[in-house]
Amino acid sequence: METQEGTRAVMPENPILSVDNLQKQYGDVQVLKDINVSMEPGEFLVLVGPSGCGKSTLLSCISGLTDITSGTIHIAGKDRTNDEPADRDIAMVFQSYALFPNMSVERNIGFGLEVRKVAEAEKKKKVAEVADLLKIDHLLQRRPAELSGGQRQRVAMGRALVRDPKLFLFDEPLSNLDAKLRVTMRTEIKRIHQTTGASIVYVTHDQIEAMTLATRIVVMKDGIVQQIGTPHEIYNTPVNAFVADFMGAPSMNLMKARATPAADGIKLEIPTPQGKAIELVDTATAPKVLQSEPSDVLIGLRPEAMTDAERVNGRTVQQADCLLEVVEPAGPDTYAVIHLGGTEAIARLSADADVNAGETAPIAFDLSKISYFDIATGNRL
Ligand code: ADP
Ligand code: MG
Repeated sequence: METQEGTRAVMPENPILSVDNLQKQYGDVQVLKDINVSMEPGEFLVLVGPSGCGKSTLLSCISGLTDITSGTIHIAGKDRTNDEPADRDIAMVFQSYALFPNMSVERNIGFGLEVRKVAEAEKKKKVAEVADLLKIDHLLQRRPAELSGGQRQRVAMGRALVRDPKLFLFDEPLSNLDAKLRVTMRTEIKRIHQTTGASIVYVTHDQIEAMTLATRIVVMKDGIVQQIGTPHEIYNTPVNAFVADFMGAPSMNLMKARATPAADGIKLEIPTPQGKAIELVDTATAPKVLQSEPSDVLIGLRPEAMTDAERVNGRTVQQADCLLEVVEPAGPDTYAVIHLGGTEAIARLSADADVNAGETAPIAFDLSKISYFDIATGNRL
C-alpha cells in the first residue's frame, strides 16, 4: 500500500504550490516519506488522514515553521525551500486562534498590516472589507473575550484574509467548535473560498470536512500520500482498502469473496456465517486478473450500493436474501448489519423499510459501484 501512484499525472502547469520529494525526519523517525503534492491557483486542497499521519508536519514544512530534511517547496513559482516563514507570502490559521486578548477585533484583524506599516486608511479599508466578508462588521470594537467560539474563528480567518497572501494554510481550524457550529463554519469557509478564489491548503482528520470542502483531497497514512484526487474520485475509486475504509461514513463494506470467471462475467461467492454463500455475477468489465483464473479477492461496496427495492430507482441490481442482524433507523436511512465476507457489512435501506432484526430480506446489490482490492496488499485491482 506504500505508494503515491498516479499522483504526478495531475501536476498543474503553473502551480501555486509544488512540494517535491519532501522528506522529514525527527531523529531516526521518518515522519514524511517522499511527499509530492502540487496545486493550481484557486484550489482548495485538503490533507486528510488519521491522527499522527503527518498532516500538520507537512503544513508546517510548507509554512517554513518546520525545517525539512530534503526536497523542495515552491510557492507561486519561487523556490521557498530555505526562506523564512515571513518571506513565503503565506498566511496561516491554526486550531488555537491565538488572538490578542487586549486588542479589539479590528486591531486583531489589522495587526499584520500594522506590523507591515501599511497606511492607516488602506488598513481600515482592508479590515472593513474582510469584516464584511466574514459578517463580523458589527463586532469590530469588541475584544476576543466578548465573542463566541464561532466569532473568534472568524476573526482568526480575518487576520489571515486581510493579508491577501499567495497561499492560505489552515490546520484543523474548526476542531475547537461544537458539532453544529462546525457545520455552519464549514459552509462559511466554502463560501469564502468561492468568493475570493483563494488558494488554500487545509488540514483535517475529518473525512466529511475533506469531502465537502476540497477541490482535491490528499489522503495520507503513516507519512505517505495514499491518493490525490477529487472528492468524487476518492469516494468512487479509492486506490486501496485504507482509502476505501477511511473516506465515507459508514465506511465502504470490504468483503472477502471468491471470484471465478464465468461465461457472462465474474461470479462472486461471498461467504456468510449461515454456511450458504451469496452468489452475484459482475457482468461489467472486471479487472483482468480476475478474468483468467479463480481467486480470492476483497470486494468493496458502499452501504448505498447494498439497498432495498424501494431505493433501486431503475439501477441494475442483483438481489440476494440476507439475514439482517441489527436494524438501525437513522432518520433518512435505515441501516442493516449483515455478516458477509468476514465482516459486518452495512446496507443502507430506505427510511421506511419494513424490516426487523433477525429476519431475512432481499438486498439489492449495485455491482456497477463495485471496487476490487488485492486480498494480500489491499491495492485496487
Ligand atoms: P497529524 O497532524 O497528522 O495528526 P503530526 O504531523 O502532528 O500528525 O505528527 C506526525 C508524526 O510526527 C507523529 O508521529 C508525531 O509524533 C511526530 N512528530 C511531530 N512533531 C514532532 C517533533 N517535534 N519531534 C518528534 N516527533 C514529532
Ligand atoms: Mg495535526
